[in-house]
Amino acid sequence: MGAPESFTATTEVGHYIGGRVVASISGRRQAVYNPALGTAARQVALGSTDEVAAAVAAAKAAFPAWADTPPIRRARVLNNFLALLNQHKDTLAAMITAEHGKVFTDAQGEVSRGIDIVEFACGIPQLLKGDYTDQVSTGIDNWSMRQPLGVVAGITPFNFPCMVPCWMFPVALACGNSFILKPSERDPSASLFMADLLQQAGLPDGVFNVIQGDKIVVDALLTHPDVKALSFVGSTPIAQYIYETGAHHGKRVQALGGAKNHMVVMPDADLDQAVDALIGAAYGSAGERCMAISVAVLVGDVGDKIVPKLAERAKALKIKNGMALDAEMGPIVTKQALERIEGYIGVGVEEGATLVVDGRGHRVAGHEEGFFTGGTLFDHVTPAMRIYKEEIFGPVLSCVRAKDFAEAVQLVNDHEYGNGVACYTRDGHIAREFARRIQVGMVGINVPIPVPMAWHGFGGWKRSLFGDMHAYGEEGVRFYTKQKSIMQRWPESTAKGAEFVMPTAK
Ligand code: NAD
Repeated sequence: MGAPESFTATTEVGHYIGGRVVASISGRRQAVYNPALGTAARQVALGSTDEVAAAVAAAKAAFPAWADTPPIRRARVLNNFLALLNQHKDTLAAMITAEHGKVFTDAQGEVSRGIDIVEFACGIPQLLKGDYTDQVSTGIDNWSMRQPLGVVAGITPFNFPCMVPCWMFPVALACGNSFILKPSERDPSASLFMADLLQQAGLPDGVFNVIQGDKIVVDALLTHPDVKALSFVGSTPIAQYIYETGAHHGKRVQALGGAKNHMVVMPDADLDQAVDALIGAAYGSAGERCMAISVAVLVGDVGDKIVPKLAERAKALKIKNGMALDAEMGPIVTKQALERIEGYIGVGVEEGATLVVDGRGHRVAGHEEGFFTGGTLFDHVTPAMRIYKEEIFGPVLSCVRAKDFAEAVQLVNDHEYGNGVACYTRDGHIAREFARRIQVGMVGINVPIPVPMAWHGFGGWKRSLFGDMHAYGEEGVRFYTKQKSIMQRWPESTAKGAEFVMPTAK
């Protein structure tokens, strides 16, 4: 494979309302950086209540006709979109690398996982076909069907600018809703690219809209009476705020939050496999994944055996501009995020953890202004430390020692987050007990990052998810539709007079 072409556009990233790109109305803008270079590459418009009002009006106007479109025809539009996504996968991946920093091959993987959801959404006629009971009482039939909600919105984080929006809008659109996406202001270009592909696919104008921006846009969506539901993915404090504020304004809300994912390594595990898994899951995408492993729980004598191997591998990571084809880890998304991560390393040292590998101050030749840090490894981290309790969201792996399986499970279960978890073992009984007893939403047995496939649904437990429905899969279909039950009788014309008792089967 030749070197992929970098994304270098310098135009302003605007909004997408009613089928066309709209420049900033409010005049508010923010720089979008290329984190590998450390320079501002373009500007993104920051919306106001005016842009939100225009997008909601466009989405509301487009809703009735789209909701009335037969599901198979909606699926055909998504099928066209699927083909276009496959065709332009590398362009989208290069766009993601240019604004997020993750390595190009990882960005390709992100787009692929987004494509999985579009494929799932193409099956919407089957998913919406409903239930039917003939003869619930003599001469009476009862069926239920699911209908779209109306205008729904999605607010997404910086770390998956294609995949996380794809957790939401393909399912929402397939169900017959119109959609407003509020992407992260740090890497906004993928949203407009996907809006254009949707239009090329035949989606009617106004059914999909994008409003760029920050809290002002989010608050306008949260309080707008015509927005019926909100999906959010991001950090826990904001997830809780979205959930509470959205619910207060009578909206259906699913809000996925932060994480601190543990990987338990049992003494009987294949330790070389476990080391590979920890290195990939802790440092892949510079640890900026909600399913990254940030805590290794090393049971019994595992710590003494694998910490030296982890150190060797962490020091040898190939850290480069993500467009370099042999890069294993790219830069951090922003300078502020880099400072936060390196600040946490200082906190860990002050708290008494053993700093085995210090990634601070890492420089990449030719990219001296880039937001790079190295892979960091701590050992002897304890549950009382802030670096254990708080989400760092960077390439920092904390090793905690546990005396046995029970202590390891207790540790995971006591943590405030419950997004993902993994257990490495060769013992089937341990694996089964782990999967059953662990208080976490997504569990991997000898799988480090168990992101569920498109038809299974994604969601954590505890403070990693507010709301009761997971993203995508059948849970996504339920979230974006409301159930209607219809009971029907076509009596012969022999009126018997009013009935005043509760109807029962006759
Ligand atoms: P973030 O919470 O800062 O931002 C997420 C979204 O909320 C963005 O669109 C942002 O513009 C908006 N926002 C930020 N501050 C806001 C405020 N005060 N009021 C209203 N809206 C606000 O998250 P991020 O830094 O973009 O992403 C990283 C976080 O997302 C991590 O905590 C990570 O664990 C989490 N995440 C979770 C999942 C999951 O599935 N659980 C997936 C991906 C990322």
